[in-house]
Amino acid sequence: MKVLVIGGGAREHALCRSLSQDPAVTELHCAPGNAGTAQVATVHQVDQLDGAQVTALARGLGAELVVVGPEAPLVAGVADALRAAGVAVFGPSAEAARLEGSKAFAKDVMAAAGVPTARSYVCTTPAEAAEALDAFGAPYVVKDDGLAAGKGVVVTSDRDEALAHAAACGQVVIEEYLDGPEVSLFAITDGTTVLPLQPAQDFKRALDGDQGPNTGGMGAYSPLPWAPEGLVEEVLETVLQPTVDELRRRGTPFSGLLYAGLALTSRGTRVIEFNARFGDPETQVVLARLRTPLAGVLHASATGTLDQLEPLRWDEGAAVTVVIAAEGYPAAPRTGDPIEGLAEAEAADGTAYVLHAGTKAAEDGRVLSAGGRVLSVTATGAGLAEARERAYRAVERISLAGGQHRGDIALKAAQ
Ligand code: AMP
Repeated sequence: MKVLVIGGGAREHALCRSLSQDPAVTELHCAPGNAGTAQVATVHQVDQLDGAQVTALARGLGAELVVVGPEAPLVAGVADALRAAGVAVFGPSAEAARLEGSKAFAKDVMAAAGVPTARSYVCTTPAEAAEALDAFGAPYVVKDDGLAAGKGVVVTSDRDEALAHAAACGQVVIEEYLDGPEVSLFAITDGTTVLPLQPAQDFKRALDGDQGPNTGGMGAYSPLPWAPEGLVEEVLETVLQPTVDELRRRGTPFSGLLYAGLALTSRGTRVIEFNARFGDPETQVVLARLRTPLAGVLHASATGTLDQLEPLRWDEGAAVTVVIAAEGYPAAPRTGDPIEGLAEAEAADGTAYVLHAGTKAAEDGRVLSAGGRVLSVTATGAGLAEARERAYRAVERISLAGGQHRGDIALKAAQ
C-alpha cells in the first residue's frame, strides 16, 4: 500500500513511524512533513489546506491511502476533495469535522445524541457572556467557538479575565466547570462501526503542577492505571457510538478518528470536547502501544470495512512522551535554534526515540527548531515508572537553547 500522510508535527511523525513499520506499506510519503518524518518517509512540499494541491499530490504518487493528521485541513475540506477524486482517505468531511471546528455544533450534536457534557450557553455579546458567567459561577470556563489549536479555552476564577476572553473571541461557549481527572479516548470509525483505542492522559498546562498557560500539550502517557474498570466500554456506549450514529443520521457521517476529551467528574463521565483527528501528544503514546499494523486499520476506516477487522492487539506495557518546547512557548516561541543530541537520545533497542514536531533540516545537515513544540521524546517500558525514566533520560541528552519541558509527566500515575 502506498500511503501519504498530511501534516508536519510529532503526531504525523508518530503516524509515519508506525506506518513505516507496517509490512503492508510499500511506499510512505509525508507532506509537508518535518526533519523527523524525512527519516522514514519521502517528504513533499504542499499547502496542506489546499484540497486541489493535496489531491494532485496524492494522484501523482498513486497513493492508495491518504491520512490527514491535523484539524485545519479537515475543516478546510481536504478529505472531501480527496474523496471526490476517488482517493481513500482517513479523516472526516468538513461537515463532520465541525464536531471539532465549532464548539457550538459539538454541543448541538451531543444534546441530540444524549451524550453527557457540561451545561453551556453560546454567547455573542458581552451582556450574554456576563449572564452566563454568573449563572454558573466560578471557576469560569470560556471557549472560543472556532478552531484555536488547543489554546482558545480560558479557565479562571477571575471574572474580568473571563469577560475579556469572551470579548476577544466574538462567539464563545461558556460552560459549567467540570471537576475530576481528564482522559483522552480515541476511536477509529468508518461512520458506523466504532473501534476505541487505549485511553491516554495529556498535560495541557505549560508548567509543572499544571501551572501556567494552556498549550497544545506538553506530554502524555498510557495506560491509565487509575482509570475505573470498564471506562472504555462505558464511553463507547454513552459517548462514541451515539455521536457517530447521530452524525450518520444527519446525513454527514463521521469517518476517521473521533477523539473524546473526557472529565471523570464526581457526577459521572462528561465530554469536555471532541476532536476530529488524532490528538497530539496522546497519539505518540497510544501508537507506541498498538501492536496491530496501522495501515490496515486506517484503510478499513477509509473504506467502510472496520466491521471486518480483527480485534486490535496492544502492548501490555506503558508509554510516556515528554514534549520539548521552544523558549517563549506558547506565547511567542523562538525558532531557528540548533538541536543537538538527537542520535544520543535514541535507545538502540527502540525503547526510547525522538519524534519531531517543529523542526527543519538546515542545509548543513543540522536540525533547527521551527515551531513552538519542537520534539516529542517518547519511551516505552514494562510500567509507567520505567517508561518515564527512559523518556527523561533521553530528554536530558538533547540540547536546545532555551528549550523547556515539564518534569512531572506521568509522575503521579507512576507512583
Ligand atoms: P478544550 O480545548 O475544550 O479541550 O479545553 C482545553 C482544556 O481546558 C481542557 O483540557 C481542560 O483542562 C480545560 N477545560 C475545558 N472545559 C472545561 C470545563 N468545562 N471544566 C473544566 N476544565 C475545562
